[in-house]
Amino acid sequence: MKRVLITGAAGFLGSHLCDRFLKEGCHVIAMDNLITGNLKNIEHLFKHKDFEFYHHDVSKFIHVPDELDYIMHFASPASPIDYLKIPIQTLKVGSLGTHNCLGLAKAKGARMLIASTSEVYGDPMVHPQTEEYWGNVNPIGPRGVYDEAKRFQEAITMAYHRYHGVETRIVRIFNTYGPRMRLNDGRVLPAFIGQALRGEDLTVFGDGSQTRSFCYVDDLVEGIYRLLLSDYAEPVNIGNPDEITISQFAEEIIKLTGTTQKVIYKDLPVDDPMQRQPNIDKARAILNWEPKVSRAEGLKITYDYFKSLPEEELYKKEHNTFEGYIRK
Ligand code: UDP
Repeated sequence: MKRVLITGAAGFLGSHLCDRFLKEGCHVIAMDNLITGNLKNIEHLFKHKDFEFYHHDVSKFIHVPDELDYIMHFASPASPIDYLKIPIQTLKVGSLGTHNCLGLAKAKGARMLIASTSEVYGDPMVHPQTEEYWGNVNPIGPRGVYDEAKRFQEAITMAYHRYHGVETRIVRIFNTYGPRMRLNDGRVLPAFIGQALRGEDLTVFGDGSQTRSFCYVDDLVEGIYRLLLSDYAEPVNIGNPDEITISQFAEEIIKLTGTTQKVIYKDLPVDDPMQRQPNIDKARAILNWEPKVSRAEGLKITYDYFKSLPEEELYKKEHNTFEGYIRK
């Protein structure tokens, strides 16, 4: 039986990975410091005999008893407002946390996969983004703490691979959505659905012409699982190339939810990328992978999930300000 450590296990992606690895018959060691993770995402797993949970901050030394086959490093704040609120932790988990995980991988002879991001491309000058593109990142802007931590993470991962011979995999994750996203973390999909459910207007930032390409979580997990089992050590984009403007996206949410509210326009946050679409030729060729779930299907499942949450969740304010994030 394979033993896998998943960091950030109580988060949106981490919790879906826990489900997947248990389904694959692995023993899952889940780790999270619960800064942005939520135990509710994994509480259904606590009774599973092959699941254990450590409440631990991976920026500190990690001890895991016995053998490990795989390490999936998914711990990180992952919304633009998180980076503003907890910038130091964001930097530490991407840098020190990755270093600790790599040290553990080396000590255990484990294969390690790191969760990198389309943010390494910054506000991209190449469109769609291929893995060869080096990016256009502002290191000192509000998103710099995330973007640069993730770029450092890729660098140290390749160094451990080349210098220490650790088996490593790097996935560059594009915008992903699905059940267990945090309702109030400021990301566009939960923001719009939350607004629709509360009967508020939908806040589009800027003129809404910026684009994103949204991937349903099950597709992403499948791509990541295939990448882990592949022998490819360089970065691979995983995302859905179906690109849409944020204005169009707001219209889709209005239609889906049947809300009678309208769209209102707010200032565009600093360094908000104007366009984003993954080129997934590499994932197609190496992993024989491409997304299967259409946005219509995925959004319906996600909306049903948000609707099923207790009503008070709608009004919990995790973050209530974009102050400091808007260009004056
Ligand atoms: N956005 C928006 N309204 C919101 C939240 C976000 O128009 O209430 C925009 C945001 O400016 C960005 C896009 O939606 O252009 C995606 O934002 P998100 O924070 O989800 O993720 P990002 O891809 O920027 O990391």
